[in-house]
Amino acid sequence: MIRDHKTEKFIQLESYGMGPFAMKKIKVCPRCGQIAKSTSIVCPACKKLLTRKTLFDEYKTMHFCCPSCDIPLTGDTQYCPHCGRKVGYSANE
Ligand SMILES: [Zn+2]
Ligand SMILES: [Zn+2]
Repeated sequence: MIRDHKTEKFIQLESYGMGPFAMKKIKVCPRCGQIAKSTSIVCPACKKLLTRKTLFDEYKTMHFCCPSCDIPLTGDTQYCPHCGRKVGYSANE
């Protein structure tokens, strides 16, 4: 089995429930913080109507992510380490 450390780091994120795939499957209730499935319409704890945004959608609004593979990136990244796409904001473009 071929492994590279980037993939391993990615899988590690998933196992902590913080990777893009894991985050796409859940929502967090804005009122009580309860974690709900992304398919849930109301919070299972307090019955508040949830938005259609998953945790990942929320995460993307707060973090800089690669537009092609959705990997969270640091703000000064120029190229996505996962797919190699140029992602950095450049004033010269
Ligand atoms: Zn709730
Ligand atoms: Zn990428």
